Amino acid sequence: MSNRFLKAILDTIYPPRCTACMTLLRQRDTAIPFCESCAMELQLISSPLCSICGIPFEGVGIDHPCHECIDKKTPFSWHRSWAFYEGPLRTAVIRFKFQKRIEIGRNLAIPLLSCIKQIPDPFPDIVTPIPLHNSRLRQRGYNQAKILVEHLHLNGVKKLYNLISKVIETPDQVGLSGSERMDNLKNAFVVDKKVDLKGKTILIVDDVYTTGTTMRACARVLKKAGAAGVYGISLTMPRP
Ligand SMILES: [Zn+2]
Ligand SMILES: [Zn+2]
Repeated sequence: MSNRFLKAILDTIYPPRCTACMTLLRQRDTAIPFCESCAMELQLISSPLCSICGIPFEGVGIDHPCHECIDKKTPFSWHRSWAFYEGPLRTAVIRFKFQKRIEIGRNLAIPLLSCIKQIPDPFPDIVTPIPLHNSRLRQRGYNQAKILVEHLHLNGVKKLYNLISKVIETPDQVGLSGSERMDNLKNAFVVDKKVDLKGKTILIVDDVYTTGTTMRACARVLKKAGAAGVYGISLTMPRP
């Protein structure tokens, strides 16, 4: 089935609505899939920010690496998140992730396209979602990051592959310190050995970038498997 045909079917089943308040929208493919009043509440992330992890700095100035990226030798070279995890975007992500409203993924993938356009280097060789452990996958029924990647594909993004698996289920990261989070995730991810990553660049996609520990852990295994470079995009991050 062609992507255009599939998109037309999806449009019929799910006419374009605001991702947060569900008001009908006049058109589907706007860069911001929210109604005007919800869009006004979005807090888009912009410079000055860390030139590596994309966490914004207060005030004015130029982009530069943050202390954390320098201290932790961040293994990916570039990550950007679209908007802060608050207001209408938070409402939408909670529905998408925890209330089985999988169709919202279609709208939520659209802002990721604008993050992709900012990648400073040639488009990566492989696009892969942050994985969920099988037990979490069974519980939720779907991997929200993978759904975002599938919708990126419908919007013309190619080179997809589920490159990473999560083989150890880790306890909830909430309330843990940075090093505890890292310990938690050590050995949790493995890379598909069938793919030769030597010299390849990889784009990791996630829905929420919280502390970056997960993305760092995934990037580390990709680098260890031979990847030449790792980039990341995510829909949202909490305000630092
Ligand atoms: Zn709205
Ligand atoms: Zn940083």
